Amino acid sequence: MDLGLSGKVALVCASSKGIGKAVAKVLAEEGASVVMCARDGEALSKAREEVAESGRGEVVAVPCDLTRSVDVDALFREVDRRFGTLHILVNNAGGPPAGTFLDTNVEMWKEAFELNFLSAFRCTEKALPYMMKEGFGRIINITSFAVKQPIENLILSNGVRAGLVGMMKTLSREVGEKGITVNTICPGYILTKRLESVLEKRAAASGLSREEAFEMALSEVPAGRFGKPEEIGYVVAFLASEKAAYVNGVTLQVDGGLIRSLL
Ligand code: NAD
Repeated sequence: MDLGLSGKVALVCASSKGIGKAVAKVLAEEGASVVMCARDGEALSKAREEVAESGRGEVVAVPCDLTRSVDVDALFREVDRRFGTLHILVNNAGGPPAGTFLDTNVEMWKEAFELNFLSAFRCTEKALPYMMKEGFGRIINITSFAVKQPIENLILSNGVRAGLVGMMKTLSREVGEKGITVNTICPGYILTKRLESVLEKRAAASGLSREEAFEMALSEVPAGRFGKPEEIGYVVAFLASEKAAYVNGVTLQVDGGLIRSLL
């Protein structure tokens, strides 16, 4: 199946490692030109080289802290200078710190809101005019299975990401007739630095060894293994394609069967 991504321009946020980097790689392999961004310029530049090696389109790296409006403005100026348009936006960022309700305070909630809600708002606000002009757009948000099944000791993530899904579902109905789709992916346990750090903190908080915490997480997954970052990339590539034009407003878990609810 030709996904029709050749010649499309994609911005993949937070793509120096983990899920973001894998998404950038799959989109580039499918022929899209890809703009990658993250805070750490050196790690980002290495990731860009890796993605460009197997990619068929142009691959550009722009250092950017997604919690800073000035950085996001500069990022979009670069997208405009290099390509003059944007067809695909993948909203992604790091995760907020672990903790329970009593571990948090107002400042921490504001930071989590900046990182996992406003970053996506800022990029989407800037991407939409290009997509409206093209009569084609794909906005794909990377959140967490937490939006369907809250995760213990991750209250900031559970709280803020649910708000993002509410905004994006509403947006999907507002822009649907313009050829723009808005969908959200909820990764389950995907083997990245973030997952290792979450499980190590879970071990420390519950008096388990690292191995026990990993085993316990694995026992929740019917597939019997952690996901690979590129397995999120393949789903993003389909949702970004012309073939997925009739998939809009979906909140889709990619989790090896982890989530226990029906929907
Ligand atoms: P990761 O820590 O491996 O990578 C995060 C990326 O975000 C890095 O490139 C980092 O540089 C970038 N980043 C962080 N803060 C940023 C900022 N302010 N501005 C720009 N870039 C920033 O994480 P991952 O495992 O790839 O996860 C990606 C997202 O998916 C996170 O929000 C994470 O919480 C969520 N998630 C991951 C899993 C999992 O199992 N890996 C499960 C559920 C949800």
